[in-house]
Amino acid sequence: MLVTFEGIEAAGKSTLIAALVGVLNGRGESVLVTKEPGGTPLGEALRGVFLDPSLRIDPVAEAMLLNASRAQLVADVIVPALRRGEAVLCDRFFDSTIAYQGYGRELDVEQLLELCLAATQRIAPDLTFLVDIPVEVSAERVRARGGADRLEREDALFHARVHAGYHQLARRFPQRYVVLDGTLAPQTLAAEALAVLDRRRVV
Ligand code: C5P
Repeated sequence: MLVTFEGIEAAGKSTLIAALVGVLNGRGESVLVTKEPGGTPLGEALRGVFLDPSLRIDPVAEAMLLNASRAQLVADVIVPALRRGEAVLCDRFFDSTIAYQGYGRELDVEQLLELCLAATQRIAPDLTFLVDIPVEVSAERVRARGGADRLEREDALFHARVHAGYHQLARRFPQRYVVLDGTLAPQTLAAEALAVLDRRRVV
């Protein structure tokens, strides 16, 4: 099973994943955790390019870069793990491209979906957690954290489009989407996500 975690900047995806892995490992379950962009040597190199604040990257080039990282991750990490019967927890997957490059940068969403599916050998997530926070909370958390990356420096309208885009995706794919309230206390959020994993027998 492929479980993905999505959300706008500083939604708390990584904290949630770490908490879930802690509990699952404690139960003796082995899960594979990975992230996008990145997760392979090529992917990490592309992540560096992608986040470099000195580069101006055309939106189509940006979508291609992310899908190159994704194709390598799927081929080298995700497909082998799924074949071994392991559950894979992935911090972002192609819904990030739809939300950021599609809704955020206003590229054609249907074309992007095709590009993404080509990159993933047509593998789609079985379950997607949208860790949802208001854009104002996101902006405040990024400010408090300091040192915004290339994307975090985009204007408020861009982030509002990404936020709305995620909600469009949740409505379009209701079978796999579970929306969680990212303003909850981290332990409460983890307990809610864990209940979903248990109910759906992910691990
Ligand atoms: O989730 P993480 O913080 O590692 O993502 C790194 C950056 O890449 C974030 O600013 C995120 O918004 C951005 N990103 C993006 N488009 C994607 C995936 C990530 O703009 N498809």
